[in-house]
Amino acid sequence: MEYKVQCPFCREKFSIEILKEDGEDQEFIWDCEICCRPMDIHARWDESHHRFSLSVDRGSGFDEMAI
Ligand SMILES: [Zn+2]
Repeated sequence: MEYKVQCPFCREKFSIEILKEDGEDQEFIWDCEICCRPMDIHARWDESHHRFSLSVDRGSGFDEMAI
């Protein structure tokens, strides 16, 4: 299933695909398609909507000075 995310660095929106759909929470690193910086994506399974709800953070390797 495709999910829209917004890059925390360049604010561009793009789609990512999560293949796993068994409802388990997961966390992974994704490189932004626009600026190529890695972000942390936390996917929590939303049982009532039967899809993941995503939240995006800057990866731990970056801080405010990095942009
Ligand atoms: Zn970006």
